[in-house]
Amino acid sequence: MIVVMKGGCTKEEINTVVCRIEEYGLKAHVSQGVEHTIIGILGQIFPELQDRMELLPGVEEVIPISKPYKLASREFHPQNTVVTINDITIGGDEIVVMAGPCAVETEEQLLTTALAVKASGANILRGGAFKPSTSPYHFRGLGEEGLKLLAKVREETGMPVITEVMTPKDVELVAGYADILQIGARNMQNFILLDEVGKTNKPVMLKRGLSATIQEWLLAAEYILAQGNDQVILCERGIRTFETHTRYTMDVSAIPAIKKVSHLPIIADPSHATGKWYLVTPVALAAIAAGADGLMVEVHPNPDLALKDGAQSLTFDNFGKLMSQLTPIAQATGRKLAVSGIKASP
Ligand code: PEP
Ligand code: MN
Repeated sequence: MIVVMKGGCTKEEINTVVCRIEEYGLKAHVSQGVEHTIIGILGQIFPELQDRMELLPGVEEVIPISKPYKLASREFHPQNTVVTINDITIGGDEIVVMAGPCAVETEEQLLTTALAVKASGANILRGGAFKPSTSPYHFRGLGEEGLKLLAKVREETGMPVITEVMTPKDVELVAGYADILQIGARNMQNFILLDEVGKTNKPVMLKRGLSATIQEWLLAAEYILAQGNDQVILCERGIRTFETHTRYTMDVSAIPAIKKVSHLPIIADPSHATGKWYLVTPVALAAIAAGADGLMVEVHPNPDLALKDGAQSLTFDNFGKLMSQLTPIAQATGRKLAVSGIKASP
């Protein structure tokens, strides 16, 4: 349920509404809109609540939210959420590109990749230090050593970095290095992990679970939002279907569907969705045409020697070609490519 306050209502009137909500044992979440202040009511709603809230001074209307997710819904937050990292904004009218290797392997691998993707126009460097792996025998990442390399390369290139955090106990450590925390597909419903990243002040990119519905995905985002972290970015990375030709199936329709029901920005990951490097560019273009706010793309100096996900990694050349094909699609959808960040984070 949301309480829409009258334009020009006073602070006291807002406080009264918040106090009343809390007296009922519920949680209030205040969102300052352009024209109205909207107060979300979270918790077990009882039938008379709507009538009672409507009686309070300064209240324009009280609207039940039909969706099981509240804070993630567009009903609660009509305008788009824009997440800011240094001088880069995600969810506005610019397309943001995150690129880099699947896994951080060596300083040279990471630095040469960062410089190459930056030169082609990428804005954010990706690279896994803690790697989820279907097989325990595959490369599982360099751990903290990988985080240190990410921080070093950020220092040298000025690119903000995104990297995955896999367990609640590592959140503080990873947040100490990363500009954006990534929650991997396999952890989308690790609710304790979602709570923990929700308590940080770092943007969080939440990947869609392998077999998660859009509703389950948005309820997972709700966990992070409910902890007070409103800098949530979604990432469609393909879902499990009967098709085995591709690694997963890119659900392009999820992009406009999310835009309709939620205010959160959405990034597309055509690398994990397809599993094949030659499918990455066409699927990336389709995702941007469908309205995605940006891309996450795997790039490696030598895909055939990559320790992880080489088959879906682009060479520097192919990444450059993808970037040049992106511009007309961005323009056709009324947007432009974000210009690479120039400032390093502190
Ligand atoms: C990744 O981006 O490195 C990754 C492991 O992706 P996903 O969680 O989507 O499989
Ligand atoms: Mn990967």
